[in-house]
Amino acid sequence: MNNQLSETFFEKYKQYPTATYFAPGRVNLIGEHIDYNGGLVMPCAITAGTWLLLAPNSDNVIRFSSVNFKEEETFPIQKKYSKTGKEWYNYPLGVFHELQQQGWDASGLDLLYFGNIPIGSGLSSSASIEVLTAYALNDYYNLGNDKLELVKLSKKVENEFIGVNSGIMDQFSIAFGEADKALVLNCDTLKYKVVDCDLGDHVLAIINTNKVRELSESKYNERVAECETALKALQQEIKINNLCELTADKFALHSHLIADETVLKRATHVIKENDRVHFAAKALNAGELEEFGRLMYASHQSLKDLYEVTGKELDAVVDFCKDYEHVSGARMTGAGFGGCAIALLKKGYEEDFAKQLTDYYVEQIGYPAAIYIHQIGDGVKKI
Ligand code: ADP
Ligand code: MG
Repeated sequence: MNNQLSETFFEKYKQYPTATYFAPGRVNLIGEHIDYNGGLVMPCAITAGTWLLLAPNSDNVIRFSSVNFKEEETFPIQKKYSKTGKEWYNYPLGVFHELQQQGWDASGLDLLYFGNIPIGSGLSSSASIEVLTAYALNDYYNLGNDKLELVKLSKKVENEFIGVNSGIMDQFSIAFGEADKALVLNCDTLKYKVVDCDLGDHVLAIINTNKVRELSESKYNERVAECETALKALQQEIKINNLCELTADKFALHSHLIADETVLKRATHVIKENDRVHFAAKALNAGELEEFGRLMYASHQSLKDLYEVTGKELDAVVDFCKDYEHVSGARMTGAGFGGCAIALLKKGYEEDFAKQLTDYYVEQIGYPAAIYIHQIGDGVKKI
């Protein structure tokens, strides 16, 4: 893949790249819509990801191109940039902007991206390209930021430059993920544990619903706002900074403060989902994959009924999995509103699962889903 990308780079820029970097996509095993509520999440990096090839130029410009998109753009070196339209290069441009804000003086650079993460499907190709760019520039120019600083900078790009109020989980797992490990991350303190993710006789199947996500950004931001409303209501009686500081029992004592029924449902999901992550970490550690799977199904149900972010496509996938004998658990992963689901599938049934799920899904939804088997892979790195 690298050689082919080097040749593409040469065709575009009439020079060969001088460095190559890789950043993965991620799946969140459990703990959804929890990161911006200061809770526990359990993500891992996957072997699909985004590559960046780069080389300096003497024209004092930044040139962006991506194998995945036809739009290419050249920007003069400036101290500040702002978002221009909805084009893909806003993501890396935002990283240039933030690094320049730190005092870095950028110089001419040619960049080529390629990703094999399905884009816009909840496996976080956006965080992948952000962390990739931040890590690469930091490493190439010796800017001296540590990984956590790069994670925070990348999140800032997503929140402020792009305008999606997502939490820190995606950038964090893409930076700190390790092969065959999951992270148990506290999104409030940013303390995390790297835990063995031995799936035993299971593989992790990723099912892309192929639903075109509409209004997902505004609905995502709406959920963030609803959680803020719940927090403010609870803060009238209790001193907390995040919803996830509450156990389910303590929440029950104060939930009457939340007047709006919808907001109450959102908060209930958040608090119970946070508890599920504790149980899931224990189950994984004990090798109890069936229990882990049960918690995945419970997570999905709550995201469907209380958080209302699943939709008929993700529900169809999970409904199928419940009836399919060789799946131990399944749930949507990422923000929802379409995107991907994950399933703990018994080894040896990959083909049969793909065939039967495809038939069922087409019958229910009218077009096919895509099914991938990825391994749990490394975080961002130089190649
Ligand atoms: P997700 O993060 O779930 O994949 P988003 O809508 O948050 O979906 O981010 C997808 C956007 O990220 C793409 O539309 C594009 O702008 C950018 N992006 C991701 N991967 C690449 C890539 N390989 N090349 C160029 N842009 C990319
Ligand atoms: Mg994204």
